[in-house]
Amino acid sequence: MEPKKIVDRIERLKREKNAIILAHNYERPEVVDIADVVGGSASLTRAALDTSADMIIVCGVDFMAETVAVLNPDKKVIMPDRGAVCPMAQQLFAEDLLEAKKKNPDAEVLLYMNTYAKAKTLADCVCTSGNALRIAEKMDGGSPIIFGPDRGLSYYVSKRTTKEIITIPEYGYCPVHHQIALEDLLKAKKEHPGVKVVGHPECTPEVQDQMDYIGSTSGIVAYCRDADEAEFLVAAEVGLMHMLKKEAPDKTFYPVSNTTVCTLMKMPTLMKVEEALEKEKQRIVVPKEIAAEARRPIERMLELSL
Ligand code: SF4
Repeated sequence: MEPKKIVDRIERLKREKNAIILAHNYERPEVVDIADVVGGSASLTRAALDTSADMIIVCGVDFMAETVAVLNPDKKVIMPDRGAVCPMAQQLFAEDLLEAKKKNPDAEVLLYMNTYAKAKTLADCVCTSGNALRIAEKMDGGSPIIFGPDRGLSYYVSKRTTKEIITIPEYGYCPVHHQIALEDLLKAKKEHPGVKVVGHPECTPEVQDQMDYIGSTSGIVAYCRDADEAEFLVAAEVGLMHMLKKEAPDKTFYPVSNTTVCTLMKMPTLMKVEEALEKEKQRIVVPKEIAAEARRPIERMLELSL
């Protein structure tokens, strides 16, 4: 079917079913273009809390849809493709977290949003890449803070806070952002001398150390749009290029690596979105008792990020 016809059907189904579509910045451009809200984890979490829709289609990976379901236990939360399973979220086991808490009884637990609801039930607070540092600073239990599962974000926070950060697991990482090699970045800097480097804190520490601005996907878009400079080297998943060009059409963006693609984020297609709206399969349901406990650290994040 022609894309235009699919888009028309999606719009009609959305109206009929009082549905909204949330899409992460890394989704396919055609999916981003039909979404009601596009952003990083923070924007999508707020949108999930504020919506009066009866059905929420989440174009992102599994932990994002779970978070939306935690915040909307009485709504239909549907993933267009349940195969979009984030490997980073799978790296943190509740048992490891319990063990770390046992070893550090005075520590508070701050978890990256990229975790499953069950792990979130053990957290004092959660955070996104955009607010992790602010939240770590504002947590009132002092130090240390047990943080997981991304060591890139942990490095970013540790470097900028005086609080002791205990990272679990020691080698948690995003396999996509870790593909951005220091050599590629240095080569790109040589090819584009003087051009500012923006990037994501899920990148390796040595790549982060070369950046002029480090932030969430939404933070990178806002920074580039508002900056005086007209050119940027981008160390992030390449899906972000679409949003950057949309928000700052007069500027030029060079991806540090064209192969930095999160194939999981590209799984929802227009046809799958239409099917999700029509058939309402692949619904995400979080058991009520887990949802109630997982909601607590998310609400604390929202309080602390005000
Ligand atoms: S970019 Fe990395 S952290 Fe994000 S969904 Fe893909 S694998 Fe997971």
